[in-house]
Amino acid sequence: MTDCIFCKIIAGEIPATIVYRDEQATAFRDINPAAPIHILIIPNKHIDSVNMMTVDDEPLIGHLFTTAKALAAQEGIANGGFRLIMNTNADAGQTVFHIHLHLLGGSRMKNPMG
Ligand code: AMP
Repeated sequence: MTDCIFCKIIAGEIPATIVYRDEQATAFRDINPAAPIHILIIPNKHIDSVNMMTVDDEPLIGHLFTTAKALAAQEGIANGGFRLIMNTNADAGQTVFHIHLHLLGGSRMKNPMG
């Protein structure tokens, strides 16, 4: 998608601190971190939101989770704990319409859900 900021990060057209990349996914540090460690894991294929995913996307979305698990270990937060969030549409606060998994950790979460 030409007007998608995350597609532009994947294409290297917008700078980002990329911490992982493979054929299916890219991970980079959130520009406005909500926790000491805040990484976004996104599919290289553009999908607007969970509302737009199909059964065919299940392996790809699953790959985001195994990537998050590996990154949590790499960042040293696997044992202490981390939170994975995927916001969908306005009520959840989705602001970028390219599916992304937030990996948050590095401190004790104060709110059970956010
Ligand atoms: P959401 O509110 O779930 O759509 O999350 C979007 C996230 O993308 C927010 O946490 C933003 O801080 C983050 N974000 C937006 N633009 C960039 C960017 N250029 N580089 C890194 N993170 C970004």
